Amino acid sequence: MKIAVIGGGAAGMTAAYAAAGPENSVVILEAGKIPGKKILSTGNGRCNLSNREMKKSCFRSGHPDIAWQILQNYDVDKTLAWFKSLGLSFSEKNGYIYPRSAQASAVREALEEACIRKGVQILSSTRVREIRKKKNRFSLVAEDGREFSADRVILTAGGMAAPSTGSDGSGYEIARHLGHRIIPTVPALTSLDSSDKICRQWHGVRTGGHIRLMTEEKILAEDSGELQLVRTGISGIPVFQVSRYASYALAAGKKVHAQIDFLPEFSSGEETQILSRWKKEDGDMRLYARLHGWFPDRLCQVLLVRSGLSGELPCRQLTERDLHRLSEACRRFSLSIQDVHGFDQAQVTAGGVDLSEIDPDTMESRRIRGLYFAGEILDVDGICGGYNLQWAWSSGRCAGFAAGGKEKV
Ligand SMILES: Cc1cc2nc3c(=O)[nH]c(=O)nc-3n(C[C@H](O)[C@H](O)[C@H](O)COP(=O)(O)OP(=O)(O)OC[C@H]3O[C@@H](n4cnc5c(N)ncnc54)[C@H](O)[C@@H]3O)c2cc1C
Repeated sequence: MKIAVIGGGAAGMTAAYAAAGPENSVVILEAGKIPGKKILSTGNGRCNLSNREMKKSCFRSGHPDIAWQILQNYDVDKTLAWFKSLGLSFSEKNGYIYPRSAQASAVREALEEACIRKGVQILSSTRVREIRKKKNRFSLVAEDGREFSADRVILTAGGMAAPSTGSDGSGYEIARHLGHRIIPTVPALTSLDSSDKICRQWHGVRTGGHIRLMTEEKILAEDSGELQLVRTGISGIPVFQVSRYASYALAAGKKVHAQIDFLPEFSSGEETQILSRWKKEDGDMRLYARLHGWFPDRLCQVLLVRSGLSGELPCRQLTERDLHRLSEACRRFSLSIQDVHGFDQAQVTAGGVDLSEIDPDTMESRRIRGLYFAGEILDVDGICGGYNLQWAWSSGRCAGFAAGGKEKV
């Protein structure tokens, strides 16, 4: 059987390897100069390839049950055993799994070499523009006019995040032309932008916090961890985790704001008691000096501005109203969100090919027989922490085995 894999990223190389064998001739058609370019930028160059803590809630999709079924068919243990057979060792930190070499290039090279060893042909600089199906055969047309034919096609062209790595969204167009429904795509795992001038004052601060993302009607999502306060708004892992919800709400024309708790380790109201104690017991101390015991200097200034208080004020002069305003600024700091950083900065795409149109046992299209999907092109986005690559490995493996006519994942 002739099998064409469109897009040689994490999912594409996994699928091609799984499909290859004496009975199949497998070719990867890859737009970029090398396969797996995006893998090189993952995990800050270290490739956080999976995570021990796998839960359904780590994946977002219109059909999370289907996504979870696919992930369970080829789980973390099976994935690691496979990578081990390709020569990789791992290191783990708090459940996050990396190659032992701490180099993403080790993962990319292991995949490329394994594919080549198994006889997969890799045609780089080949961007597919269109797929047509006539009777039982597919005909694929590249941008430069070259044509290819295949009995089965695995579409693993990725999403739109980090387009400099090759994933420019062309896979969605191909899928749409073949009759598939595309759930609207938005940037995810990215920073949030605010036009509030106060952001200019906190640029460069890193601090622990809890972010609650809200519209006027409801709480969209929340997360805790190290926040990065930047000139353009807010960033850091907790912000990344909630960003896809901001993307969708803003795209729907809703007003979005973030409510930040800069003292997440305090119980509700605990800060008010402590602030009152400052007033009683540390009356001579300047408010700024007291606050600086809690927060980095630039954040102290921002909290003072937001509460309308002077840092020079001796704590004894704080009124009940001052204490309330200070407590609000520290625990419920409200920041309006106007935008999200776009696909250039995003780590992943939310939305994509509707999962309900895919058979989760095989990853085959329910619309076009012989067409398979895997990876980010599908309507699944994971949270930060190795979940998106695990989705690429699990779905890629399943698609490759099924397209290759093999029985079990
Ligand atoms: C900066 C950054 C850091 C990240 N870090 C992590 C991390 O540490 N852990 C984690 O789990 N996830 C991480 N991710 C997300 C993860 O890398 C992706 O979700 C994953 O690589 C998606 O794999 P894929 O194979 O589906 O798509 P891609 O890796 O995007 O591969 C798609 C391939 O298809 C090719 N292509 C596109 N269109 C065509 C076409 N028409 N014809 C031919 N070829 C085409 C592209 O050139 C590309 O090589 C990160 C992402 C970024 C951007």
